[in-house]
Amino acid sequence: MVFDPGCRRCPRLAAFLDQVADSHPDYHCAPVPPFGDPDARLLVVGLAPGMHGANRTGRPFTGDHAGILLYAMLHRFGFSSAPESLSADDGLTLENCRITNAVKCLPPGNKPVGAEINTCNDFLANELRILPPGAVVLALGGIAHRAVVKALGLRQADYRFAHGAVHDAGDVALLDSYHCSRYNTNTGRLTETMFAEVFAEARRLLDQ
Ligand code: SF4
Repeated sequence: MVFDPGCRRCPRLAAFLDQVADSHPDYHCAPVPPFGDPDARLLVVGLAPGMHGANRTGRPFTGDHAGILLYAMLHRFGFSSAPESLSADDGLTLENCRITNAVKCLPPGNKPVGAEINTCNDFLANELRILPPGAVVLALGGIAHRAVVKALGLRQADYRFAHGAVHDAGDVALLDSYHCSRYNTNTGRLTETMFAEVFAEARRLLDQ
């Protein structure tokens, strides 16, 4: 199983979602499903839903700042039908691309604990297993990178996170980028040019 919409295997996260649902009854407040092409060769892996983004709209990277640069790049490089993802029913489609998160439920303070990352890793492992050979996995940030390495059954010591790095990870290529969070883009840790270079590399890997 790559996703369980009723999963409550992480007690802290399930309780937190219940609490947020009380104060925001119009929010999704449940595990956020992967979004995009089921046969995609590009899998983008983020960290976890944001409070007022994916946790509100039910679509990864949709409705808050983190998705602005991501969807703009997906559109620029031919993976998205539109440059902005506004809501789960805005008609946007992804082509040859799917977006998922290492942790499917909103964590308090945007910080899942290790046990939660490990528990949700079963879903990520199953999702990686269905990728076609030659696929590219784009990990956004170190936590997503390590979750992918774990899900692929590889040794962390052999696969260190580095922005722009491409790792040979068996049947797939693992490509790293700093996360496109508001903090990283506002501080210049991740610029639009840097992110575009990562997507150009993804496109090159898929086309070779
Ligand atoms: S984070 Fe993943 S494993 Fe934990 S409750 Fe949510 S869907 Fe289940």
